[in-house]
Amino acid sequence: MHMTDLIEKKKRGNTLSEEEIRFIINGYTAGEIPDYQMSALLMAIVFQGMTVPETAALTLAMAHSGDMVDLSALGPHTADKHSTGGVGDKTSLVLCPMAAACGVKMAKMSGRGLGHTGGTIDKLEAFPGFSTSMSPERFLEIADTVGFVIAGQTANLAPADKKMYALRDVTATVNSIPLIVSSIMSKKLASGAKTIVLDVKTGSGAFMETEENAFTLAREMVNVGKEAGRNMAAVVTDMDQPLGYAVGNALEVKEAIAVLNGEDVPDLRELCLVLGSNILERSGLAPDEKSARGMLEAAIESGAALQKLADMVQAQGGDPRAVFDPSLLPQAPVQHSVKAPCSGYITAIEARDVGLVSMHLGGGRATKEDVIDLSVGVVLRGKVGTHLNAGEELAVIHAASESDALQAERELLQCFTFGDAPADRPPFIRGVVS
Ligand code: URA
Repeated sequence: MHMTDLIEKKKRGNTLSEEEIRFIINGYTAGEIPDYQMSALLMAIVFQGMTVPETAALTLAMAHSGDMVDLSALGPHTADKHSTGGVGDKTSLVLCPMAAACGVKMAKMSGRGLGHTGGTIDKLEAFPGFSTSMSPERFLEIADTVGFVIAGQTANLAPADKKMYALRDVTATVNSIPLIVSSIMSKKLASGAKTIVLDVKTGSGAFMETEENAFTLAREMVNVGKEAGRNMAAVVTDMDQPLGYAVGNALEVKEAIAVLNGEDVPDLRELCLVLGSNILERSGLAPDEKSARGMLEAAIESGAALQKLADMVQAQGGDPRAVFDPSLLPQAPVQHSVKAPCSGYITAIEARDVGLVSMHLGGGRATKEDVIDLSVGVVLRGKVGTHLNAGEELAVIHAASESDALQAERELLQCFTFGDAPADRPPFIRGVVS
């Protein structure tokens, strides 16, 4: 088999066989196929697409390019959740302890933030002492005893994806549904959970700006996961404005703790209940959505979910007292109040741009090597639909200095649109694919 023939085949819009796809992925992972040939193939895939069986074969070949984590020792109710990324997305910090309190074993590997989106690993490091690197044995032990563990991705999990993603990033080949499906699902399949629930974002702050593309991505990921024998569901949700009110690492941890304390942060609590009930139902721990929701709500009301978060923070070396006293989390020296420039309804909040404000304050990375400030960010006082009078508080900026705060204020004010009447908005949960 020759790589040039396979590039030619895809360039002409023909279908690659399973064997050909395995040849490509194994050769590329081993360094036998050079980046320039892989780049050409990726671009051909962007233009010609892939059939569903091709996408499934690509995903499996990428998943098997490295370690396949074996979670069988944890019993049948292992689950994982993945979000396609957004602004203010602290869902895992709420969902994992809630699900663990209901008997699910969540063994999760998460990433760091890049650009305008945050990463769960960074957020968790707001707990003093918290560590996300551990031996595979300790990873399984925490998942078993606490019910959930969140670690950084190991070097040998889907190494083909690591190489391909880095290449896609610099060759304008990220935006392709089969390439995104195989990238996300190869890591999820290799991570070993029996039940996988996906949160596919749509809107200005998301990868998939249109709802149609988000549903296509959701359906394809669900199909590939089912073919691989996993219980699957995908929820398509709005990312036209940030999720919840807080954007910034420690600020998001505080908001997650508030939800676990029973506070109804709009969108965030509902999303966690929908994702959580899909996990309980698909993994067989609840007979239907209504009882699953009841179990999750009870875990919040009893304090069991909050206690699970504290147990996990302690097991991973962090200070669990911060779960019950969030003032122990990093605090920015400057808290600057931003006032509404006019009276009216908030009709839009550009999620992506709010993420960039937090990044410019030091809360996110422009490159993988950047060191971030866990304390900074933005807390909104209103969401789309909120009415404010001119001069009322619109947001609070948490910054390292007054000058950073003033610069952030100028940027933040550009993120809001006001109108005389509340804007018509589609529902936050656009649909569930299962
Ligand atoms: N996230 C991933 O892990 N891969 C993609 O291709 C896009 C988003």
